[in-house]
Amino acid sequence: MRASKANVKKWVEKITSWYRDVQRPLPWRETKDAYRIWISESMLQQTQVVTVIPYYHRFLDKFPTIESLAAAEESDVLRLWSGLGYYSRARNLHRGAKAVVEKWKGEFPRDRKHAESIPGVGPYTAGAVLSIAYGLPEPLVDGNVQRVFARFFGFKEEIHTRSASDFFWSTAREWVGSARSPSELNQALMELGATLCSKAQPRCTLCPLKSDCIALKTGTQASLPRRKPRRPVRRLSWATWVHESDHRILLQRNAENTWWEGLWDFPRSEKPENVEPEAWLRDLPHAPLAALDTQKHTVTHHRIEVFPYVLPWKGKRRNGPHQQWVTVEEAKQLPLSALAKKILLAYCRAQSGTRRSNA
Ligand code: SF4
Repeated sequence: MRASKANVKKWVEKITSWYRDVQRPLPWRETKDAYRIWISESMLQQTQVVTVIPYYHRFLDKFPTIESLAAAEESDVLRLWSGLGYYSRARNLHRGAKAVVEKWKGEFPRDRKHAESIPGVGPYTAGAVLSIAYGLPEPLVDGNVQRVFARFFGFKEEIHTRSASDFFWSTAREWVGSARSPSELNQALMELGATLCSKAQPRCTLCPLKSDCIALKTGTQASLPRRKPRRPVRRLSWATWVHESDHRILLQRNAENTWWEGLWDFPRSEKPENVEPEAWLRDLPHAPLAALDTQKHTVTHHRIEVFPYVLPWKGKRRNGPHQQWVTVEEAKQLPLSALAKKILLAYCRAQSGTRRSNA
Protein backbone atom coordinates (compact mmCIF):
# COMPACT_ATOMS: atom_id res chain seq x y z
CA MET A 1 0.00 0.00 0.00
CA ARG A 2 2.97 2.33 -0.54
CA ALA A 3 2.27 5.37 -2.68
CA SER A 4 4.79 7.19 -4.86
CA LYS A 5 6.22 10.47 -3.61
CA ALA A 6 4.62 12.28 -6.54
CA ASN A 7 1.19 10.94 -5.65
CA VAL A 8 1.58 11.84 -1.98
CA LYS A 9 2.60 15.36 -2.96
CA LYS A 10 -0.40 15.64 -5.28
CA TRP A 11 -2.88 14.46 -2.60
CA VAL A 12 -1.33 16.72 0.04
CA GLU A 13 -1.63 19.74 -2.24
CA LYS A 14 -5.24 18.92 -3.14
CA ILE A 15 -6.42 18.49 0.42
CA THR A 16 -4.48 21.52 1.69
CA SER A 17 -5.85 23.81 -0.97
CA TRP A 18 -9.38 22.50 -0.30
CA TYR A 19 -8.86 23.25 3.42
CA ARG A 20 -7.75 26.82 2.71
CA ASP A 21 -11.03 27.40 0.84
CA VAL A 22 -13.51 25.73 3.17
CA GLN A 23 -12.13 25.63 6.72
CA ARG A 24 -14.60 26.50 9.45
CA PRO A 25 -13.76 29.65 11.40
CA LEU A 26 -13.00 28.25 14.86
CA PRO A 27 -11.56 30.27 17.76
CA TRP A 28 -8.46 28.09 18.16
CA ARG A 29 -7.67 28.60 14.48
CA GLU A 30 -7.07 32.28 15.14
CA THR A 31 -3.98 31.63 17.22
CA LYS A 32 -0.56 30.01 17.05
CA ASP A 33 -0.24 30.03 20.83
CA ALA A 34 0.79 26.54 21.94
CA TYR A 35 -1.05 26.80 25.25
CA ARG A 36 -4.36 27.70 23.58
CA ILE A 37 -3.99 24.99 20.97
CA TRP A 38 -3.20 22.46 23.68
CA ILE A 39 -6.38 23.47 25.57
CA SER A 40 -8.51 23.16 22.43
CA GLU A 41 -7.03 19.78 21.50
CA SER A 42 -7.60 18.42 25.00
CA MET A 43 -11.21 19.59 24.95
CA LEU A 44 -11.89 18.29 21.45
CA GLN A 45 -10.99 14.70 22.26
CA GLN A 46 -14.28 12.74 22.36
CA THR A 47 -16.27 15.98 22.20
CA GLN A 48 -17.92 17.87 19.35
CA VAL A 49 -16.72 21.26 18.16
CA VAL A 50 -20.01 23.06 18.93
CA THR A 51 -19.95 21.80 22.49
CA VAL A 52 -16.32 22.81 23.01
CA ILE A 53 -16.50 26.46 21.82
CA PRO A 54 -18.17 28.01 24.93
CA TYR A 55 -16.02 25.89 27.27
CA TYR A 56 -12.88 27.01 25.44
CA HIS A 57 -13.78 30.70 25.89
CA ARG A 58 -14.76 30.33 29.55
CA PHE A 59 -11.63 28.33 30.35
CA LEU A 60 -9.31 30.88 28.75
CA ASP A 61 -11.12 33.82 30.32
CA LYS A 62 -10.37 32.27 33.70
CA PHE A 63 -6.91 30.87 32.86
CA PRO A 64 -5.48 33.11 30.12
CA THR A 65 -1.90 31.86 30.58
CA ILE A 66 -0.27 28.57 31.35
CA GLU A 67 1.03 30.07 34.60
CA SER A 68 -2.52 30.92 35.72
CA LEU A 69 -3.65 27.35 35.01
CA ALA A 70 -0.64 25.87 36.81
CA ALA A 71 -1.41 28.00 39.90
CA ALA A 72 -5.13 27.16 39.92
CA GLU A 73 -6.96 24.96 42.43
CA GLU A 74 -8.00 21.63 40.89
CA SER A 75 -11.61 22.26 41.95
CA ASP A 76 -11.68 25.47 39.83
CA VAL A 77 -10.31 23.59 36.81
CA LEU A 78 -12.90 20.83 37.24
CA ARG A 79 -15.72 23.35 37.66
CA LEU A 80 -14.89 24.93 34.31
CA TRP A 81 -14.69 21.49 32.74
CA SER A 82 -17.92 20.30 34.30
CA GLY A 83 -20.26 18.99 31.59
CA LEU A 84 -17.50 18.20 29.06
CA GLY A 85 -16.99 14.72 30.52
CA TYR A 86 -13.81 12.63 30.60
CA TYR A 87 -12.51 14.58 33.60
CA SER A 88 -9.12 12.89 33.55
CA ARG A 89 -8.39 15.23 30.61
CA ALA A 90 -8.88 18.26 32.88
CA ARG A 91 -6.78 16.81 35.69
CA ASN A 92 -4.01 15.89 33.23
CA LEU A 93 -4.11 19.32 31.64
CA HIS A 94 -3.71 20.87 35.07
CA ARG A 95 -0.82 18.54 35.95
CA GLY A 96 0.68 19.13 32.49
CA ALA A 97 0.55 22.92 32.92
CA LYS A 98 2.42 22.62 36.24
CA ALA A 99 5.06 20.42 34.58
CA VAL A 100 5.57 22.85 31.67
CA VAL A 101 5.90 25.82 34.06
CA GLU A 102 8.37 23.96 36.29
CA LYS A 103 10.50 22.25 33.64
CA TRP A 104 10.27 24.48 30.57
CA LYS A 105 9.58 27.92 32.05
CA GLY A 106 6.03 27.89 30.73
CA GLU A 107 6.90 27.17 27.09
CA PHE A 108 5.45 24.00 25.55
CA PRO A 109 8.54 22.03 24.41
CA ARG A 110 9.38 22.00 20.71
CA ASP A 111 10.22 18.33 20.27
CA ARG A 112 8.07 15.24 20.40
CA LYS A 113 10.05 13.37 23.05
CA HIS A 114 9.73 16.16 25.62
CA ALA A 115 6.17 16.99 24.58
CA GLU A 116 5.07 13.39 25.16
CA SER A 117 6.65 13.41 28.62
CA ILE A 118 4.05 15.97 29.78
CA PRO A 119 1.18 14.37 31.77
CA GLY A 120 -1.78 13.76 29.48
CA VAL A 121 0.07 14.60 26.24
CA GLY A 122 0.08 11.56 23.98
CA PRO A 123 1.26 11.17 20.37
CA TYR A 124 -1.87 12.82 18.97
CA THR A 125 -1.78 15.96 21.17
CA ALA A 126 1.99 16.30 20.73
CA GLY A 127 1.58 16.15 16.94
CA ALA A 128 -1.25 18.67 17.00
CA VAL A 129 0.53 21.27 19.15
CA LEU A 130 3.92 20.88 17.44
CA SER A 131 2.52 21.13 13.92
CA ILE A 132 -0.18 23.77 14.48
CA ALA A 133 1.64 26.05 16.93
CA TYR A 134 5.23 25.64 15.71
CA GLY A 135 4.73 24.50 12.09
CA LEU A 136 6.87 21.37 12.63
CA PRO A 137 6.38 18.37 10.29
CA GLU A 138 4.99 16.17 13.07
CA PRO A 139 2.21 13.72 12.21
CA LEU A 140 -1.03 13.19 14.08
CA VAL A 141 -3.66 10.47 13.92
CA ASP A 142 -7.12 10.72 15.45
CA GLY A 143 -10.42 9.03 14.59
CA ASN A 144 -11.04 11.44 11.69
CA VAL A 145 -7.62 10.83 10.16
CA GLN A 146 -8.03 7.05 10.55
CA ARG A 147 -11.36 7.19 8.73
CA VAL A 148 -9.99 9.27 5.84
CA PHE A 149 -6.91 7.04 5.37
CA ALA A 150 -8.80 3.77 5.81
CA ARG A 151 -11.29 4.74 3.10
CA PHE A 152 -8.87 6.48 0.79
CA PHE A 153 -6.46 3.51 0.75
CA GLY A 154 -9.18 0.86 1.09
CA PHE A 155 -7.48 -0.34 4.31
CA LYS A 156 -9.44 -3.41 5.42
CA GLU A 157 -7.72 -4.41 8.67
CA GLU A 158 -9.40 -3.75 11.97
CA ILE A 159 -8.18 -0.32 13.06
CA HIS A 160 -7.23 -1.06 16.67
CA THR A 161 -4.42 -3.46 15.78
CA ARG A 162 -0.71 -2.71 16.05
CA SER A 163 -0.19 -3.02 12.30
CA ALA A 164 -3.12 -0.66 11.60
CA SER A 165 -1.61 1.89 13.97
CA ASP A 166 1.76 1.55 12.18
CA PHE A 167 0.01 2.06 8.85
CA PHE A 168 -1.87 5.20 9.95
CA TRP A 169 1.14 6.80 11.66
CA SER A 170 3.59 6.05 8.85
CA THR A 171 1.12 7.40 6.27
CA ALA A 172 0.50 10.54 8.38
CA ARG A 173 4.28 11.01 8.71
CA GLU A 174 4.76 10.64 4.97
CA TRP A 175 1.98 13.12 4.15
CA VAL A 176 3.04 15.76 6.67
CA GLY A 177 6.64 15.36 5.47
CA SER A 178 5.55 16.38 1.96
CA ALA A 179 3.48 19.34 3.08
CA ARG A 180 4.56 22.94 2.65
CA SER A 181 2.45 23.73 5.71
CA PRO A 182 2.34 20.87 8.25
CA SER A 183 -0.19 22.87 10.26
CA GLU A 184 -2.61 23.14 7.34
CA LEU A 185 -2.14 19.55 6.22
CA ASN A 186 -2.89 18.10 9.67
CA GLN A 187 -5.90 20.34 10.12
CA ALA A 188 -7.07 19.54 6.58
CA LEU A 189 -7.04 15.80 7.28
CA MET A 190 -9.05 16.28 10.47
CA GLU A 191 -11.42 18.72 8.79
CA LEU A 192 -12.08 16.32 5.92
CA GLY A 193 -12.88 13.53 8.39
CA ALA A 194 -15.11 15.82 10.48
CA THR A 195 -17.05 17.31 7.57
CA LEU A 196 -17.14 15.42 4.24
CA CYS A 197 -15.71 12.01 5.13
CA SER A 198 -18.11 11.60 8.05
CA LYS A 199 -19.02 8.27 9.66
CA ALA A 200 -22.45 8.12 8.07
CA GLN A 201 -23.11 9.32 4.53
CA PRO A 202 -19.77 10.72 3.39
CA ARG A 203 -20.21 13.44 0.76
CA CYS A 204 -17.73 12.07 -1.74
CA THR A 205 -18.79 14.25 -4.66
CA LEU A 206 -17.33 17.29 -2.82
CA CYS A 207 -14.15 15.55 -1.66
CA PRO A 208 -10.75 16.81 -2.86
CA LEU A 209 -9.43 13.21 -2.83
CA LYS A 210 -12.31 11.59 -4.71
CA SER A 211 -10.43 10.83 -7.93
CA ASP A 212 -8.09 8.34 -6.17
CA CYS A 213 -10.24 7.09 -3.29
CA ILE A 214 -10.48 3.28 -3.18
CA ALA A 215 -13.58 3.21 -0.95
CA LEU A 216 -15.42 5.45 -3.41
CA LYS A 217 -14.33 3.31 -6.37
CA THR A 218 -15.40 0.09 -4.69
CA GLY A 219 -18.47 1.44 -2.86
CA THR A 220 -17.06 0.35 0.52
CA GLN A 221 -17.32 3.65 2.44
CA ALA A 222 -19.94 2.24 4.83
CA SER A 223 -17.79 -0.73 5.89
CA LEU A 224 -14.58 1.28 6.43
CA PRO A 225 -12.85 1.76 8.76
CA ARG A 226 -13.32 -1.67 10.28
CA ARG A 227 -13.83 -1.62 14.05
CA LYS A 228 -14.26 -4.05 16.91
CA PRO A 229 -17.93 -4.77 17.62
CA ARG A 230 -19.37 -2.31 20.15
CA ARG A 231 -19.68 -3.31 23.79
CA PRO A 232 -23.28 -4.24 24.63
CA VAL A 233 -25.34 -1.57 26.39
CA ARG A 234 -25.49 -1.99 30.19
CA ARG A 235 -28.61 -0.66 31.92
CA LEU A 236 -28.40 0.66 35.47
CA SER A 237 -30.92 2.12 37.93
CA TRP A 238 -29.89 4.53 40.66
CA ALA A 239 -31.73 6.34 43.40
CA THR A 240 -30.25 9.68 44.44
CA TRP A 241 -31.08 11.69 47.54
CA VAL A 242 -31.41 15.44 47.82
CA HIS A 243 -31.18 15.68 51.60
CA GLU A 244 -32.56 18.99 52.86
CA SER A 245 -31.95 20.74 56.14
CA ASP A 246 -32.59 24.43 56.88
CA HIS A 247 -32.32 25.60 53.22
CA ARG A 248 -29.19 23.56 52.67
CA ILE A 249 -28.64 20.40 50.67
CA LEU A 250 -26.06 17.67 51.05
CA LEU A 251 -23.38 17.06 48.41
CA GLN A 252 -20.65 14.45 48.43
CA ARG A 253 -17.37 14.41 46.56
CA ASN A 254 -16.76 11.36 44.36
CA ALA A 255 -13.81 9.33 45.63
CA GLU A 256 -10.64 8.51 43.72
CA ASN A 257 -10.95 5.90 40.99
CA THR A 258 -14.73 6.20 40.80
CA TRP A 259 -16.82 7.80 38.11
CA TRP A 260 -16.48 11.60 38.08
CA GLU A 261 -13.62 11.49 40.54
CA GLY A 262 -13.24 14.76 42.46
CA LEU A 263 -16.60 16.19 41.31
CA TRP A 264 -19.52 16.81 43.65
CA ASP A 265 -22.69 14.72 43.53
CA PHE A 266 -25.81 13.83 45.42
CA PRO A 267 -25.59 10.65 47.52
CA ARG A 268 -26.91 7.66 45.59
CA SER A 269 -27.60 3.97 45.78
CA GLU A 270 -27.55 1.50 42.92
CA LYS A 271 -30.16 -1.13 42.18
CA PRO A 272 -28.57 -4.58 42.56
CA GLU A 273 -28.70 -6.83 39.53
CA ASN A 274 -31.55 -9.33 39.42
CA VAL A 275 -33.90 -7.12 41.47
CA GLU A 276 -36.97 -5.67 39.79
CA PRO A 277 -36.96 -1.82 39.78
CA GLU A 278 -40.40 -1.61 41.46
CA ALA A 279 -39.36 -3.87 44.34
CA TRP A 280 -36.07 -2.04 44.73
CA LEU A 281 -37.73 1.42 44.82
CA ARG A 282 -40.36 0.19 47.30
CA ASP A 283 -37.71 -1.20 49.66
CA LEU A 284 -35.36 1.79 49.67
CA PRO A 285 -34.36 2.71 53.23
CA HIS A 286 -36.10 6.09 53.41
CA ALA A 287 -39.73 6.78 52.68
CA PRO A 288 -39.46 9.45 49.99
CA LEU A 289 -40.90 12.85 50.76
CA ALA A 290 -41.04 13.86 47.12
CA ALA A 291 -39.87 12.34 43.91
CA LEU A 292 -38.25 14.63 41.34
CA ASP A 293 -38.35 14.04 37.60
CA THR A 294 -36.66 10.80 36.61
CA GLN A 295 -33.40 11.46 34.73
CA LYS A 296 -31.73 9.53 31.94
CA HIS A 297 -27.96 9.61 31.85
CA THR A 298 -25.42 7.96 29.56
CA VAL A 299 -21.81 7.08 30.40
CA THR A 300 -19.96 5.25 27.61
CA HIS A 301 -22.01 2.04 27.12
CA HIS A 302 -24.01 2.52 30.36
CA ARG A 303 -27.58 3.80 30.19
CA ILE A 304 -28.60 4.95 33.65
CA GLU A 305 -32.13 5.63 34.83
CA VAL A 306 -31.95 7.89 37.87
CA PHE A 307 -34.75 8.32 40.43
CA PRO A 308 -34.08 11.44 42.54
CA TYR A 309 -35.88 11.97 45.85
CA VAL A 310 -36.02 14.92 48.19
CA LEU A 311 -35.72 13.94 51.86
CA PRO A 312 -35.63 15.99 55.05
CA TRP A 313 -32.47 15.39 57.07
CA LYS A 314 -33.10 14.43 60.65
CA GLY A 315 -29.56 14.06 62.00
CA LYS A 316 -26.74 16.51 62.72
CA ARG A 317 -25.20 18.29 59.76
CA ARG A 318 -21.48 17.69 59.32
CA ASN A 319 -19.13 19.23 56.77
CA GLY A 320 -15.81 17.76 55.70
CA PRO A 321 -13.50 17.45 52.71
CA HIS A 322 -15.85 14.91 51.09
CA GLN A 323 -19.23 16.13 52.31
CA GLN A 324 -20.72 19.62 52.32
CA TRP A 325 -24.04 21.16 53.29
CA VAL A 326 -24.55 24.04 50.88
CA THR A 327 -27.23 26.40 49.64
CA VAL A 328 -28.39 25.97 46.04
CA GLU A 329 -26.36 29.03 45.02
CA GLU A 330 -23.23 27.60 46.66
CA ALA A 331 -23.86 24.24 44.97
CA LYS A 332 -23.84 25.98 41.58
CA GLN A 333 -20.32 27.26 42.28
CA LEU A 334 -18.93 23.77 42.98
CA PRO A 335 -17.57 21.45 40.27
CA LEU A 336 -20.66 19.25 39.91
CA SER A 337 -20.95 16.12 37.80
CA ALA A 338 -23.22 16.51 34.76
CA LEU A 339 -25.74 14.24 36.48
CA ALA A 340 -25.69 16.34 39.67
CA LYS A 341 -26.37 19.44 37.53
CA LYS A 342 -29.43 17.76 36.03
CA ILE A 343 -30.74 16.77 39.46
CA LEU A 344 -30.08 20.23 40.89
CA LEU A 345 -32.05 21.72 38.00
CA ALA A 346 -34.94 19.30 38.63
CA TYR A 347 -34.81 20.22 42.34
CA CYS A 348 -34.87 23.98 41.59
CA ARG A 349 -37.79 23.47 39.20
CA ALA A 350 -39.70 21.53 41.85
CA GLN A 351 -38.91 24.18 44.48
CA SER A 352 -40.18 27.04 42.32
CA GLY A 353 -43.32 24.98 41.53
CA THR A 354 -43.89 24.42 45.25
CA ARG A 355 -43.43 28.13 45.96
CA ARG A 356 -45.91 29.03 43.21
CA SER A 357 -48.53 26.58 44.46
CA ASN A 358 -48.11 27.84 48.06
CA ALA A 359 -48.48 31.49 46.99
S1 SF4 B 1 -14.00 10.22 -1.54
FE1 SF4 B 1 -15.49 9.88 0.05
S2 SF4 B 1 -14.78 8.10 1.21
FE2 SF4 B 1 -13.08 8.84 -0.06
S3 SF4 B 1 -11.92 10.15 1.33
FE3 SF4 B 1 -13.33 11.44 0.17
S4 SF4 B 1 -15.18 11.60 1.45
FE4 SF4 B 1 -13.94 9.90 2.22
